[in-house]
Amino acid sequence: MGGRITRFARETSQQMTTAQTPASDVFSGTRDPIFDELDFPADPNNLYTQTVGTVLEACDMLDVRHRVRIICAQPKNEIMVHFPVRMDDGHHRLFKGYRVQHNNVLGPYKGGVRFHPEVHLDDVKSLALLMTMKCSLVRIPFGGGKGGVKVSPREHSTGEMQRITRRFASAISPFIGPDYDIPAPDVGTNAQTMAWFADTYMMSQTQANTQDALRIVTGKPVEFGGSLGREKATGQGVVDVVVEMLPEFNLSVEGMRVSVLGFGNVGSWAARILADMGAKVVAVMDHTGALRNDDGFDCDALAMHCQKTGGVAGFGADVETGSGHAKNLSGEAITSDEFYQTPVDVLIPAALEQMIKEREASMINAKIVAEGANAPCDPSGDRELQRRGIEVLPAILANSGGVTVSYFEWVQNKSCVIWDAEHVDTELNRHMVMAARRTRLARQRYKCDMRTAAFAAALEHIAKTYDVRGIFP
Ligand code: NAD
Repeated sequence: MGGRITRFARETSQQMTTAQTPASDVFSGTRDPIFDELDFPADPNNLYTQTVGTVLEACDMLDVRHRVRIICAQPKNEIMVHFPVRMDDGHHRLFKGYRVQHNNVLGPYKGGVRFHPEVHLDDVKSLALLMTMKCSLVRIPFGGGKGGVKVSPREHSTGEMQRITRRFASAISPFIGPDYDIPAPDVGTNAQTMAWFADTYMMSQTQANTQDALRIVTGKPVEFGGSLGREKATGQGVVDVVVEMLPEFNLSVEGMRVSVLGFGNVGSWAARILADMGAKVVAVMDHTGALRNDDGFDCDALAMHCQKTGGVAGFGADVETGSGHAKNLSGEAITSDEFYQTPVDVLIPAALEQMIKEREASMINAKIVAEGANAPCDPSGDRELQRRGIEVLPAILANSGGVTVSYFEWVQNKSCVIWDAEHVDTELNRHMVMAARRTRLARQRYKCDMRTAAFAAALEHIAKTYDVRGIFP
């Protein structure tokens, strides 16, 4: 049995009964029969296979029906589009885009659109599946979807990005809708991207439907139907979950040491909010470099520097902030290994997927890893963190704040009301705290680690919904 145990805590695994044994660990040589039934490739490095493996593990624990397992193991729709776009120099380039609609049993498909050169279909499928689980865990009436375009935004002018966004929106518009599939921002996209997307979609509607079509995307600028609090929502949600869990670790926010991997939307907001609450952000790393400062960074100044220069590298003593010069808060450049080795209470991975492998996990010097990014740990990294007793607050719980406030934006657009920032924060906190408690309860009930518990709490809701709805016909 030992070789099949992946995400279960070591002490828990010894108490497991046969019924509790995870049967879907694709990395230890045992394959859930569903992989063969659905003809999955035997590639343990495939992110989609890994993600399905985690879901099937939780299905085993809950004894979920076979029909729900096979439904969850494959997306309902996988859409791939190719579209030409005119570049600034007059020539045309062909781009590849995806929209994956994983499951809509709980409501319309919902999920971000990623602009990145390394977007692949299987990654988009994984992220769509994670969205299904996330929406279910946080109990918002949405299903899971995800999209992407294979493009490097850094290599294109604003004009080219606008044309790429509009052509992609136009290419997938027959397959989405404000009550059917609602995209949002993700890596490489932002509120401006969503404004171009929504405008393109609205232009394609009949006049009578134009205003309602505003709900086609969330994460829009506030001036154009966006919600207050959406920009910081994912980072705020990470913080809400961490704060709810801290008493279990005898930690408090005041003086807590934090490191952040990735200082974009999620990472910078989580860092700024925690710093405002009295925590010390002592190490940061992004694609441009890594920095350490044991006194704690001025995170507002660091975020401003990133906006100006594109990354944390070069954050210096001469940075002007609202609170004066950040002279003593600039930090020293460190290596990637030194970043992981920095002693902290909480590490927040908020960059890309699969960055924490066994090697990185073996260096991490933290009590808690709060996953701001989706799937930041690969299975070997996950196992190593488990082995070392480092608690992981899984992404489907910790980063569900973004989709939660996206839901609030959609509700506001649908009902023509505008919530103030305080109301958004209060409602977000309520959803995050409830999701955290649901996860904790599942962990106690099923005697498993936090990741499996979060999937179990999400699957319970999905399985019950399939029970009452049945399968057509
Ligand atoms: P972003 O583009 O704003 O930031 C990404 C960050 O990752 C940047 O700081 C970048 O420098 C860093 N990065 C990229 N490659 C790196 C590398 N090789 N090494 C170190 N750092 C690297 O993206 P974001 O919106 O903050 O999203 C980050 C993660 O959070 C993604 O996994 C995304 O799917 C997830 N997420 C985002 C939201 C949201 O609302 N933005 C919601 C849920 C989940």
